[in-house]
Amino acid sequence: MSGINQGARQIHNQGGDVSRQETPLELEQSFENAAKLLRDADSVLIAAGAGMGVDSGLPDFRGSDGLWNGYSAALPGGRPILEAANLHVFESEPTFAWGFYGHRLDLYRRTAPHDGFRLLRLIGETMEHGMFVFTSNVDGQFQKAGFHGSLICEYHGSLHHLQCLEACNSDIWSANNFMPVIDASQCQLVSPLPACRHCGALARPNVLMFSDWNWNPARKDQQERDLMRWLKAVRRMVVIELGAGTAIPAVRVFSGRTGRPVIRINPHEAQLGGINGVSLPLGALEAVTAIAHRLGVGPQGASALPH
Ligand SMILES: [Zn+2]
Repeated sequence: MSGINQGARQIHNQGGDVSRQETPLELEQSFENAAKLLRDADSVLIAAGAGMGVDSGLPDFRGSDGLWNGYSAALPGGRPILEAANLHVFESEPTFAWGFYGHRLDLYRRTAPHDGFRLLRLIGETMEHGMFVFTSNVDGQFQKAGFHGSLICEYHGSLHHLQCLEACNSDIWSANNFMPVIDASQCQLVSPLPACRHCGALARPNVLMFSDWNWNPARKDQQERDLMRWLKAVRRMVVIELGAGTAIPAVRVFSGRTGRPVIRINPHEAQLGGINGVSLPLGALEAVTAIAHRLGVGPQGASALPH
C-alpha cells in the first residue's frame, strides 16, 4: 500500500510534469512509429489508468475543480472526499463511505465509454493473438465498451461487484441489484445500505481501498492468472498504455515489466523513463484516434457495405 499512499501525496503536488510540447511534425512521426509497432505485432496489451476515462467525462487523480470533479476535492467544511476510500471509514461511517462509492457506481453506470475504447478493441481484433486489458480502473468501462470479461484484468477490483465486510465467506457477487441514492453535497448514502447476501452484514465494494486488509482478491487473482497465461502464448506483443500516471503506479510498473515496447499515451506524464517505445503526450481519445487512422481501423461514418 505504500505506493498508493505515496500517490496520495502526489495528488496534491502536481508539479511533476516533465512532458514537453511536441511539434506537429514530431507528433506525426510518433503516430507513425506507434502504427509501425502495431503493424509488426501479433498481440496488444491495453494498460489503462484513471486518465483513460477522462475523455468519457470521468474524473482522474489530478482534477480538483468542483466537489466531484477530482478525488482530491473536499466536502463543505474541508473534509477530503478521498477519506471515504478507507477500510476503517467503512466500519465507522458506512453511509459516508458508500456516499463516495455509491456516487461513483452510479456515475460509471451512466457513463458511455468514449470512442477510443471501440478503436482499441478493433485494433486488438486485427491481431493474431488478440488483446488483453490490464487496468487499475474499477469502473467497468471496458466491459461496457464490448471487451469480453475474460480478457480483462481489473487489478484493483471492480465497483460493480460486492463482498461481505465481515468476510463471512469468500463470495463476490454483482452489484447490479444495488441502486444507491446519494446526497452528493454531503457525500452520504441516503438509501438503505447494501447487505451481504449470506449473513446480512454490511456489504462493501470489491475494490482495493486504502489500508485495506479486508479486500477479497479472488476475482482479480483469477483474471491475473488468465493474463499470465495469455502473456506466455504471445510473441510480438506491444503495450498501449493510456492515462496511467506515476501517482498510482501499478499500471505503469506492469507495462515496463513486460519488457515489450510501450506506446505511452499520457497528456501529463508521457516520459518513457528508459523503456523502449513511443511517447505520446496526448489524451487517450485523440491519440488512439490518430493511431487507428494510420492503421485504417474503424473510421466512424465509413461503411464497408456496398451502397
Ligand atoms: Zn456475510
